[in-house]
Amino acid sequence: MLLCLNAGSSSIKFSLYRVGAAAALEAHGQLEGIGAHPHFLAKAGDGATLAERRWPEGAALGHDGALRMLMDWIAAELADGALLAVGHRVVHGGTRFHAPALVTPALLDELAALSPLAPLHQPHNLAAIHACQAIRPGLPQVACFDTAFHRRQPDVATRFALPRALTQAGVRRYGFHGLSYDYVSRQLRALDPVLAAGRVIIAHLGNGASLCAVRDGCSLDTTMGFTALDGLMMGTRCGSLDPGVVLYLLREKGMDPAAIEHLLYHECGLLGVSGLSSDMRELQASDAPEAREAIDLYVYRIARDIGALTSALEGLDGLVFTAGIGENAPSIRAAVCARLGWLGVRLDPAANAVGAPVISAPDSGVAVRVIPTDEERMIAEQTLAIVSKQQGEPA
Ligand code: ADP
Repeated sequence: MLLCLNAGSSSIKFSLYRVGAAAALEAHGQLEGIGAHPHFLAKAGDGATLAERRWPEGAALGHDGALRMLMDWIAAELADGALLAVGHRVVHGGTRFHAPALVTPALLDELAALSPLAPLHQPHNLAAIHACQAIRPGLPQVACFDTAFHRRQPDVATRFALPRALTQAGVRRYGFHGLSYDYVSRQLRALDPVLAAGRVIIAHLGNGASLCAVRDGCSLDTTMGFTALDGLMMGTRCGSLDPGVVLYLLREKGMDPAAIEHLLYHECGLLGVSGLSSDMRELQASDAPEAREAIDLYVYRIARDIGALTSALEGLDGLVFTAGIGENAPSIRAAVCARLGWLGVRLDPAANAVGAPVISAPDSGVAVRVIPTDEERMIAEQTLAIVSKQQGEPA
């Protein structure tokens, strides 16, 4: 069995795969509210509930207690399959890691040094690794980075126009959602190898959202930069913003860094513009003009940045939609594509309505596809590859 973990500040999401010819999802779920009001829910691969447990309000497990509980549950419930390794989603791999890496003390030191670059995520990712080490010393652990897929981008795509010393100090564009882009581009290679060898933009539109320009499976540019705030408008994040706005908030509005951080990560995007919700389904169901304005801006920004990445790719052969909104919202896909007619994009409305694998019309100049993402499976595959290599077996 392989355990895949995505640890945040208040929740730990997990997936358990049975290792075989193709990794099969055995169970998945999460422990939410680990600091205040824990709730554990585990489901089987087919969606049936396997276990649920609630702790009283005020009860705290922390990463350590949550992982002890999870490891105990795995040992008791799924005793027929010993754990082979744990794969962790780690948001930041800095400039060095373009591939997943086996966790060692030296690696942990290196990753801890990157925490200031991703203070909302990296410390929690690392806390889960430390907790697993304490609970199961000797069990191999693998760090799978959200930044790694972008590490071979040309230098010009990764720089800000800042003084060299700041660039050398790590203030540069890293990009995120790499596990999703890696998974989707591998799927595309299997589905349509000719298109996968061409110039493709993948639109990961979930609560977080970004675009990635991919050529022959390699990231050439992406809309997220130094942090996961940059680029597209998101559920609650602002996306690209004139840095002068931050100076204005500091100086004129008297906001401190923590207040600005909260504003930019949690109060902007669809939520901020609509004043109603960060959830696309709720905005689509609303008659409020503010909900329409938020959706219009969301679509406009996607289409505008697709234009920018098309320039980075010097043309466009394919566009792939993925994640919650990309996979499930035909009207958003249609609105984005309607703005891309100048690129030769033509949708097949019937195929788009049902989210068919190919949603472009036969005469479209750009192939448009929907490919469901699966970041957990990517973590499982990357972890298995590393562990197999370590054991001297073919991955
Ligand atoms: P996360 O980034 O947290 O993994 P998801 O990829 O699940 O999030 O995306 C969540 C977003 O997808 C929400 O805005 C949600 O409203 C939207 N979404 C999910 N299903 C639909 C749907 N059928 N129509 C419109 N939006 C949807």
